[in-house]
Amino acid sequence: MINNDTADIFKAESIQDFIDNATIGIHSVDGTGKIIYANKAELKLLGYDASEYLGRNIQDFHADKDSIENIFLKLTGVSEVKEHPAKLICKDGSIKHVLINSSGYYQNGTLIHTRCFTRDITEHFKDKSALKESKVNMRFMADTMPQQVWTARPDGSLDYVNKRVTENFESSVEEIIGEGWIHFVHSQDQDNCIERWKSSLQSGEPYQVEFRLKVNEEYRWHLGRAIPLVIDGSIVKWFGTNTDIHEHKVSEEKKDAFISIASHELKTPLTNIKSFVQLAKRTIEPSGKAFEFLTKADNHVLNLQNLISDLLDVSKFNAGMLTYNFSDFNFADLVSESIEAIKPGLTTHKIILENHADVIFNGDRFRIEQVIANFLSNALKYSPDADTVIVRTAIEEGNIVVEIQDFGIGIPEEHLSKIFERFYRVDNTSMKFQGLGLGLFISSVIIKRHQGSFWIESKPGAGSTFHFLLPLTLSQPDLDIETDNETFYKSDFIDIKYNNELKQLDVNWTGFQNIDTVKAGGMVMLQLLKFNGCAKVLNDNTFVKGNWSEAADWAGQVWFPMMEEAGLEVFAWIYSPITFSALAARKSVNVMVGNVVSRFFTSTQEAQIWLSSYTGSPGQKKG
Ligand code: ATP
Ligand code: MG
Repeated sequence: MINNDTADIFKAESIQDFIDNATIGIHSVDGTGKIIYANKAELKLLGYDASEYLGRNIQDFHADKDSIENIFLKLTGVSEVKEHPAKLICKDGSIKHVLINSSGYYQNGTLIHTRCFTRDITEHFKDKSALKESKVNMRFMADTMPQQVWTARPDGSLDYVNKRVTENFESSVEEIIGEGWIHFVHSQDQDNCIERWKSSLQSGEPYQVEFRLKVNEEYRWHLGRAIPLVIDGSIVKWFGTNTDIHEHKVSEEKKDAFISIASHELKTPLTNIKSFVQLAKRTIEPSGKAFEFLTKADNHVLNLQNLISDLLDVSKFNAGMLTYNFSDFNFADLVSESIEAIKPGLTTHKIILENHADVIFNGDRFRIEQVIANFLSNALKYSPDADTVIVRTAIEEGNIVVEIQDFGIGIPEEHLSKIFERFYRVDNTSMKFQGLGLGLFISSVIIKRHQGSFWIESKPGAGSTFHFLLPLTLSQPDLDIETDNETFYKSDFIDIKYNNELKQLDVNWTGFQNIDTVKAGGMVMLQLLKFNGCAKVLNDNTFVKGNWSEAADWAGQVWFPMMEEAGLEVFAWIYSPITFSALAARKSVNVMVGNVVSRFFTSTQEAQIWLSSYTGSPGQKKG
């Protein structure tokens, strides 16, 4: 491998051996460009025998002639070292991408030879060009989509929009990216849009908002959605779409406008009918058949009135026009009055009242009465074979908690989380019992407006208990916090400890939870998990008191991926005894993105045994 003329360059045999067998390619050329030395790695890299390589001009092996000038001709000083990219031609005709590190040796100002170290970067180059190709493909795909597609930096400023956006806005990319997009949002929707975007940026929660965008000089309704890409526990990018929902939105508005007008028009004649029925009742004997018929007619008119006012409320809510009048009132009095109001027409059931909420509450009296009436009318309607409904009110942890219990048909578990949706009715009841499926939807809207929440315990055949909670003072930051920011954190609703012996986080949730407490607690867990580099969590919900947490989607799609990035592998979850809370826990695992292994338990001991013995078997993905 060594040219006889230049054998004296390598004095010591051991050095020559070292260079010959080095894993990096080494070759040397003389002042004229003739190759005078190449080691084994160099020959192997290009696939030549020594006889095919040595003695030839280096130019023959360079696919890009410009790089030769950089590597060999621009050397000036004696010990100058440079690294240049080059493409070398292999024996089989393929090209190797290399970096050549060259140094020139001069005698009396004349270049005697150049030594080169050849580093193969073909794979890296392939990766880079594959990345470039996939970027080009992604952009092409995004440009062919009928929706507006965009990406944003973690601070919320847009850094990419697809072709559809520039076409719709008739503007350049530069005018839209950064903060420019907001000028294309209808002025009435801008505040809500910015507020929601900021709140998503802060919480990492998927962003979803409806707004009007100026498309070719016309404002059209769009549904904007975005989800964050989380790497190493931090958001690195947001991916979003805006979908045109204008036609659908306009037809919904038309439908609501129709319902609203129709209900209004129906109200007046109905009030007249009711007045005449009552007048008629006064003119006849209460013991006769006619009186009985008129009483029945009266009840049906009342049902119709309630139905119409529900429809009207829903159309008002959809149009954002459901109004509230807040005032102070005694809560226990309101509950008693609501019950008294329905008692006269009640022949089938007795209502037992355990009223312990003798406090002043600030809220909309009429609307809260509507909630109680809805829960009560359901309890009575869906327990035709029972004779009792129990209403309990209490003050717990600064909240009013109301329970309405019946001993009726009950609700199968799979329907529990859905019955608060608009027009949702459990199939087997819809034929037997009258209703539109609006009462619980309207109640949930009213409760939420008072920053409250609701949950249900139910057993088919045994009955249901509906609960709702109203905070006496509106949410305040939790002030009673104890923490060292490293190994423990304790507040009114969560207790987190890093267990150094078992290398796990021990987490206990207590009391009523809502979306805010779940998110706040979740983020502290993330911080402590990261700090202590642990992979296991024992999450105990035994002392959670009811509630359906709307944070289930956030937990599954945002929080679990962040926890996984931070090192979480196993999550043992001890159920809350409250069905609704357990449903929320299951939902977050069902929508979970990622590979965290999670399992549910009813006992802390069993959960601990599983967690301690867990070594990671692939069949055990989700609980
Ligand atoms: P309306 O609009 O007149 O209230 P509705 O009673 O059907 O009609 P919701 O009050 O919203 O509507 O209740 C939704 C569904 O939930 C009901 O159709 C019923 O299937 C179920 N449901 C509600 N309360 C109970 C209950 N106490 N027991 C059993 N099922 C119930
Ligand atoms: Mg109802």
